[in-house]
Order: sequence, then C-alpha cells, then structure tokens
Amino acid sequence: MLVVMQAGATDEQIAAVVRKVEQLGFRAHVIPGAQRTAIGITGNPGPLDPGLFEGMPGVIEAVPVSKPYKLVSREIKLEKTIVRVGEATIGGDELAIIAGPCAVESYEQTMTVAEWVSRLGVKFFRGGAYKPRTSPYSFQGLGEEGLKILAEVRARFGLKIVTEAIDHESADLVERYADIMQIGARNMQNFSLLRRAGQARIPVLLKRGMSATLEELLLAAEYIMAEGNYNVILCERGVRTFAQHTRNTLDLSIVPAVRRVSHLPIIVDPSHGTGRRDKVIPLARAGVAVGADGLMIEVHPDPDRALSDGPQSLTLPMFRELVEQVREIAALVKRAEQEMAPM
Ligand code: PEP
Ligand code: MN
Repeated sequence: MLVVMQAGATDEQIAAVVRKVEQLGFRAHVIPGAQRTAIGITGNPGPLDPGLFEGMPGVIEAVPVSKPYKLVSREIKLEKTIVRVGEATIGGDELAIIAGPCAVESYEQTMTVAEWVSRLGVKFFRGGAYKPRTSPYSFQGLGEEGLKILAEVRARFGLKIVTEAIDHESADLVERYADIMQIGARNMQNFSLLRRAGQARIPVLLKRGMSATLEELLLAAEYIMAEGNYNVILCERGVRTFAQHTRNTLDLSIVPAVRRVSHLPIIVDPSHGTGRRDKVIPLARAGVAVGADGLMIEVHPDPDRALSDGPQSLTLPMFRELVEQVREIAALVKRAEQEMAPM
C-alpha cells in the first residue's frame, strides 16, 4: 500500500500517517518526491483497507501497489533516485565511472591504478578485499588489510571507494572503511546479507545474479530498501548463457527494462559481462548508449599477472581510451534524453 500525501502536506501530517502505520505493526517508508511525498507500507501480510488512511489530514489517497516489489517501483517514486556520495553522484547528470582492479593485491598495484583513475577525473574506485572465488584455492583477497589500502586511496586521491562484502563480518568492516558496499552476483539472493546491507549507513551496489530475472533483481533490491536503506544502485554484469565467445552474456536490454519499472539507478559492468579484454570497450560504449547511469570497469597495471580476472582487465592506456570514448557518447545520450518527452 502506498499513501500519497498532498503537495503541501505538513511534517506533522506525514508523521501522523507514519504513527498509524506503526500502530498497525507495519513499517512506514517516507519517500519524498518532487511533487509530493509518498509513504510506502511494508510488512503487511495482506492487502490493507485504503479507508484506514484516506480521510486523514493531508492524505490524497491510499493505493495498493500492483507489483510484487514496492519500494523499488516507479509507482512509489516517479523521479529517478540519485545516489550521492559527497559531491559524486550515481543516477544524476554525470556518467558515473567506477574503476579499479578486480582485487586489491598490494599497496603498489592499488596506488598505481588509483593514480591513473583519478587523473582521468573518474570519481569512484573499486577493488575487492574479499573475493568470492569459484575455487577455494584461488586468491581470496587481503581482507581488512585490503580495506586499509582502499581507505588510503580515498585519503590520497579523494576517490570514493566501492568494495564487496561477502558476509556479515566483512559487511561490518566494509561499512567502516568504504563509501559504497558491493553485493556480488553470487550473493544477490543471500537474503540475510541483503538485510544486513539494508541496515548499512552507506549506499549499496547490487549486482545481478548470474541467472536472475529482472523481477528477482528488483526483489533483491527490495530486501535492502525494506530495511530502510534507499540508496541502492543496480548493476548488470552479464548472465550465464550457451555463448562461448564470452564469459557471460551482457544483457543490456535490462537497462531500459529497469528504467520502465524502477526509479533506481542502473550501471553496466562490461568486464564481468564479457570476460574478455578486447570486448570491454565496445560493450562499455553500448552500455552508455543504452542509457546506463554508469560503468564498472576492471583495470590492472599488468593484467597478465593479475591474481584475479586478468583476462578481462584493461591495461591503463586502454582504460584511458575507454573513458575518452564513453564520455563523448554520454554527452550525446544526455542531449537525446533532454529532447525526448519524459517517460
Ligand atoms: C567483482 O566485481 O569483482 C565481482 C566478483 O563481480 P560479480 O559479483 O559480478 O561476479
Ligand atoms: Mn572481478
């Protein structure tokens, strides 16, 4: 159920609706919008009677939400969500680029990439300190040591740090050291971890599971938002198909599909999405052209020696090439969007 408030509704009127929802034993989510505030209700086992809220001062109407997901839906919030980290944004006017190595391997390796990334004017830095690897014998990440290196990247270059949490313990540490908590494809349906991410004070970057449908992705985001964290960024990183020319099949059609039904920003990861270095730049261009809010790109100073995901990591000069190309496309897309009537 969604309680829609009048444009001029007072804080007290909004608070009264929230109190009523809580007295009923449910959770109220106040979602301010450009035109009006809406209050989403979660935790109710079945449909609620609109009469409970209609008639309260400041309420226009109470409407059932028709989708299985509620808080992520455009029904609850028409305008796009802009996730803000300091002065940097994801979902705003500027294309957000998140770049860095797959894994934080050493101080030197990390600083080399960070310096390059920051010189190009890129605002977000990635690097895994906890790596969910297919094999238990593969490099598992430096753990807290890696997070400390990332914190130094932020201090030295002002880059915003995006890094993955793989369980509750690492989530506690990621929340302490990083700016955005990444939930990886393998954990997209780890519901207990999603709830933990929903309690984090920092935004969450949620990667699509390797065989997840659009609805499953949105419901995973709903888990996070239902806990009160509304700063969620979705990420398309490819799905498993029969194709053998790539590691995964990058499903770019999910970008306009998400746009249609959700207000959340969505970025594209052509590194995991293709698994092959030579395909990353073309698919990054395509991701921007299709309207993604940003890109996540793996970059390594010496990809052949990378401890993880070397075959898909760009060299530093290739990354510069990518940034130059996608910025031109982003400017074109922005112009086209401004000329188009709003959806
Ligand atoms: C990563 O970003 O390094 C990663 C492990 O990605 P994914 O969860 O998409 O496989
Ligand atoms: Mn990787």
